[in-house]
This record gives sequence, C-alpha cells and structure tokens, in this order.
Amino acid sequence: MALRIDGKKISMEMKDELKEKVAAMKEDGVEITLAVIQVGKDPASTVYVGNKKKACEYIGIRSLAYELPEETTESELLELVESLNDRDDVNGILVQLPLPEHINENKILNTISAKKDVDGFHPQSVGALSIGQKGFVSCTPAGIIELLKRSNIEIEGKECVVVGRSNIVGKPMALLLLRENGTVTVCHSRTKDLKEITKRADILVVALGKPKFITKEYVKEGAVVIDVGIHRNENNKLCGDVDYDDVEPVCSAITPVPGGVGPMTITMLMNNCVESVEIQK
Ligand code: NDP
Repeated sequence: MALRIDGKKISMEMKDELKEKVAAMKEDGVEITLAVIQVGKDPASTVYVGNKKKACEYIGIRSLAYELPEETTESELLELVESLNDRDDVNGILVQLPLPEHINENKILNTISAKKDVDGFHPQSVGALSIGQKGFVSCTPAGIIELLKRSNIEIEGKECVVVGRSNIVGKPMALLLLRENGTVTVCHSRTKDLKEITKRADILVVALGKPKFITKEYVKEGAVVIDVGIHRNENNKLCGDVDYDDVEPVCSAITPVPGGVGPMTITMLMNNCVESVEIQK
C-alpha cells in the first residue's frame, strides 16, 4: 500500500514550529506583521483571506486587513501598496488574487517591495530562485518540497516530472526540484506523448488543472505522486488532478486531495513571513 502523505499533519507540525520561533522572536522584541489586501468580495478570496488571518493568529503574527471595495482604482491600490512598502512595522504584503478586471495584476504585484513579497510572485523573487539566491519562494511549490523532505523522500538524482508550467506552481516547482538536485522535465499542454514522459518519473508533480486527469497509465510502478489540483466534483466533493483510487495501488507514496498539498500553502506563507525578518535585515 502506498504511503499517504499527510499534508494536514505535516502542516500542523510546521505551524507549531513556527509558533515557537515567533514566540522566541517576540521575546527578543521582534514582532512580525503581514498586511493582507482584498479588493472586492469574491467569495473564494474571502475564505482564503479568512484562513490566512486564522493562521496568523495561531502562529502569533499580527495581521492587518485591508478590505477594499470593488470600485477601488488601480492608482488607489498602488498608493496603498507603496505606503505599506514604506512602513517599517510591516514585514509582508499580500494582495489576494484575482483582482477586479480594471486593475492590472502584474503592475500591482511588481510594485510590492521584493523584500516584503511573501507570496514570492515578484520578478525579483522568481529571478533569485532561478539563480540560487536567497529570496521568497512561491508557497505551494515550497510546501511540496517540505512534504517530500518530511516524508523522507529523497529528491537528489531522481527523475522528476512536473506537469504544468504556470508561474505560481509549475515553473517554481521545477526550479526547486532542480535546486534539490533532481533531474527535471516540465510538461505542458503542447507536450507530445505525455504518458511516455510521466512514466519515467520517480517523482511526479501534477498541476494541470483537470480533475482526475492522471490515471495509472501515466504512472511508473513505485513512483511518488504529488497532486496539486483542487476541484469540486459533481457531488460537491473535492478531488485533484490525479485519479487517486486508480493511481494509489501502483505508486509508493501519494498526496490525497483534500489533505495533501492544500494545507501546506498557507503554512508556507507563514514561513515566508517569519523568513521576511531575515531577508529584510
Ligand atoms: P494553470 O491553469 O495556470 O496551469 C495549468 C498548466 O497545465 C499549464 O501550464 C498548461 O499548459 C498545463 N496543462 C493543461 N492541460 C494539460 C494537458 N492536457 N497536458 C499537459 N499539460 C497541461 O494552473 P495552476 O498551475 O495555477 O494550477 C494547477 C492546479 O493546481 C489547479 O487545479 C489549481 O486549482 C491547483 N492549485 C492548487 C493550489 C494549492 O494550494 N493546492 C495552489 C495553486 C493551484 P500550457 O502552459 O501549455 O497552457
């Protein structure tokens, strides 16, 4: 039977470690503050922002919430981001996506100071990752590396295949696996013979955004399968990009959905907030 990688448990362990770190920092007079900006009332964004606030409370990070109306202009939002960049008492700035259509997302994300970019989306953070310098790393792929390490799964020398090349998951995932000395192949919608490539993987990371797309025909016997996808099926139940029941019998370890990669994302955001103090020094 495959190892079921328990993201809920691992993220809880990490949160407790962070809580201790933050308490020790407070004793040294260091308080961490995360500013979270939401524009409009997208229901999914409201849930995500609420979860981020809860995680901050648990760990002992101060959170500042900016809930702005849908009509907020791009220049008003830029002004807020710039004022938060200038504040010494703010360590991290997070702008919840998606933004309303009249606001240019890239312009906003590029305005966040790279030293406060706890989401790791700023071009400077991405550049630092690609040349092996210190900087913030996108939370979902960073969480996957933690899941692998804390499950004692060796990456060095392994054939790693990433399905998906988005800026927030696929590309940073490939760079992180490379940093860990994996041999990395990235697949996307124009890849020919996807099955042939995924079947080579010792570690297969799937972030393609299609429910239950990956079946056992795509997986090598004994592979480790990491499922990033999140979807609601016809019965309103959560499922991933991987057909768990079909794949589980052939692999050696697998992340479930829910309870695999998902819980790690916010925990890694908290980790980035703690690391921001070091990065800002
Ligand atoms: P995107 O839609 O931005 O990217 C999907 C990628 O998959 C693209 O690179 C696309 O290729 C590729 N792709 C699509 N179809 C195929 C196919 N048939 N064969 C091979 N490659 C294909 O998605 P994200 O990276 O943002 O997210 C992926 C999934 O992960 C989603 O289900 C999302 O909900 C989930 N997610 C989960 C998170 C978590 O915390 N657990 C966080 C972020 C995302 P191309 O570039 O050629 O179009």
